[in-house]
Amino acid sequence: MTLAYVGIGSNLEEPRAQVSRAFDELARLPRTRLASRSSLYRTAPLGHADQPDFINAVAALDTELEAGELLAQLQAIENRHGRRRSFRNAPRPLDLDLLLFGDARIARPELVVPHPRMHQRAFVLQPLLEISPQARIPGIDSAAACLAACASQNIERIG
Ligand code: AMP
Repeated sequence: MTLAYVGIGSNLEEPRAQVSRAFDELARLPRTRLASRSSLYRTAPLGHADQPDFINAVAALDTELEAGELLAQLQAIENRHGRRRSFRNAPRPLDLDLLLFGDARIARPELVVPHPRMHQRAFVLQPLLEISPQARIPGIDSAAACLAACASQNIERIG
């Protein structure tokens, strides 16, 4: 059994509903239990500023799946939400990132864990810390220390 953390983001087509649905779908994954869910957070978009704000959250999963199997399940959920891949940081109905997979460090062409940008993103770190205050990012630092370095990023907890 591995404790994995998944980052959830949406900024299209009723983002709050997309994120709630994503939690329900994560709870139904095979050989997996939804261990905890963070509050929802509102954040301004990174990269392309002329798009709607994002709703973000983090889920903790107890899973017997391998990391690659879990990534495939996350991509299947994204696809059910009508994900259209266009350009990096483009608006999307649902984005799921595998943030942490136990204390594993994975560097495969299709899967990098810890997620390579998570330590720079308040919209990942703040919900992660809400449900796992002691979280550490293997090879980097504690999540709390990483969040302290992102103090300039605007993020609002919306419940
Ligand atoms: P994005 O469009 O930014 O969500 O990136 C999706 C791509 O990132 C997919 O092709 C995945 O194979 C790849 N990827 C690599 N590492 C991860 C990860 N930890 N979580 C989610 N996707 C990942």
